[in-house]
Amino acid sequence: MKRNMDAPQIDLMRQSEIMARIAQRNGSRPERPAAFVDTYGCQQNEADSERIRGMLSKMGYAFTNDESSADVVVINTCAVREHAEMRVLGNIGALSHAKKANRDMVIAVCGCMVQQEHMAEKIKKSYPYVDLVFGTHELPRFPELLESVLKPNRKRVFAVTSSDGEIAEGLPVHRDRGVKAWLPVMYGCNNFCSYCVVPYVRGRERSRMPESIVEEAKSIVLEGYKDITLLGQNVNSYGRDLNRGVDFSYLIEEIDKIDGDFIIRFMTSHPKDATRRLFETMAGCRKAAPHIHLPFQAGNDRVLKAMNRGYTKNGYLELVAEAKEVIPDIVLTSDVIVGFPGETDEEFEDTLDVLKKVRFDSLFTFIYSPRKGTPAAGMPDPFTREDKQRRFDRLLELQYAISAEKHAEYVGRTVRVLVDGETGDEKANLSSRTAGGRLVHIRGDADNIGKFKDVKITGSTTWALFGEIV
Ligand code: SAH
Ligand code: SF4
Repeated sequence: MKRNMDAPQIDLMRQSEIMARIAQRNGSRPERPAAFVDTYGCQQNEADSERIRGMLSKMGYAFTNDESSADVVVINTCAVREHAEMRVLGNIGALSHAKKANRDMVIAVCGCMVQQEHMAEKIKKSYPYVDLVFGTHELPRFPELLESVLKPNRKRVFAVTSSDGEIAEGLPVHRDRGVKAWLPVMYGCNNFCSYCVVPYVRGRERSRMPESIVEEAKSIVLEGYKDITLLGQNVNSYGRDLNRGVDFSYLIEEIDKIDGDFIIRFMTSHPKDATRRLFETMAGCRKAAPHIHLPFQAGNDRVLKAMNRGYTKNGYLELVAEAKEVIPDIVLTSDVIVGFPGETDEEFEDTLDVLKKVRFDSLFTFIYSPRKGTPAAGMPDPFTREDKQRRFDRLLELQYAISAEKHAEYVGRTVRVLVDGETGDEKANLSSRTAGGRLVHIRGDADNIGKFKDVKITGSTTWALFGEIV
């Protein structure tokens, strides 16, 4: 039996005391000190950053968008592809000037990239002005770590442990005002897809207690958010480690019961664990978005096996058929990797075939990026970057045509949308989303933001729909 252990309450109490101590010190300064939190990568990182901001706010920091004038800069990093790491390193490099101008500035780097030993080591050696590095499992100890670098004669602090982490309930959360809120339901991943670094940097799967999640969902709704995304690397295995007979469908049902007009979204669903029960729950819960993000990664069975994905092309297509049967208006999106080591041109045709058969509404597409320590990084890869780029371009061309056709089908229909922000474009100044997550540009007063509206769709492109409030 696996455990579900909350971070020892005693330690959280200690962190609270430290936060109060820092807040008192900050309160006695003539001006409130400012913090800047920069987030890379996935929604889970966004959610972690909201907790970092929550703690910073408790410690008396205001927030700024100008990193050069900040007293504390926190960079929350991603490791999923090399490109993400390069961007992070570039940004840390650029901070050296700000640090020269302000020696008291604290620079902290945290998250998935530095959870990898070789990257923490790189920061230690090549970026001497970074004061604090902490891994994904140390997040609840941020106040303590920050306090130790705020001391006079400051020493650099590196806190990266390889534990699977505990779940720290009760951390303060600072969400940006707005319409959408992230709600983590579980952490970590057990799937070890052969290309992926996530299980190494995020540890094993651990689910939050359903009561904690539902309580947080209630407060999110009370605060006025209208669009809640439940987060996990594979939400379909939610609850397995709790041994309480609860699963992800149960969670959706419980959140659906909360009073109020809001949308429930979730990501990500691993195809190997998606079930008819999940689709039926989505169909039966009024607030559940008719959208599923179901990454298939590759269409060829040999490649899928080498990726350790646990399903076949046909298995995937059958699952999609089942989803469409239970939820006829379902919006389907997916992730695809092009150029997995050894994937041939012929095998890649199977990926294109899945696109043609499923007709996804939109797609997130990636060229394979070798990740140190993963099995795929050691597999022979005879194809060049140009070979992969050529395939990638074909993939985009096909998907763009499908997205454009699917969007065109909306023209003339009236759909309910949630208005979520401004576009900066005079002709269609507001952005909104259908329940299925399609972007709709409309015209109207800014006080429509946060409201549900019926919109008649008048036009479409590959990327978006255009409409008029009716
Ligand atoms: N848990 C989620 C994915 C998290 S990573 C899931 O299983 O769907 C998000 C996406 O990044 C993955 O779906 C995959 O398409 C892509 N990705 C992950 N590792 C990658 C790598 N090494 N190279 C290229 N793309 C990768
Ligand atoms: Fe990575 Fe696979 Fe886990 Fe997703 S399910 S995070 S792709 S290992």
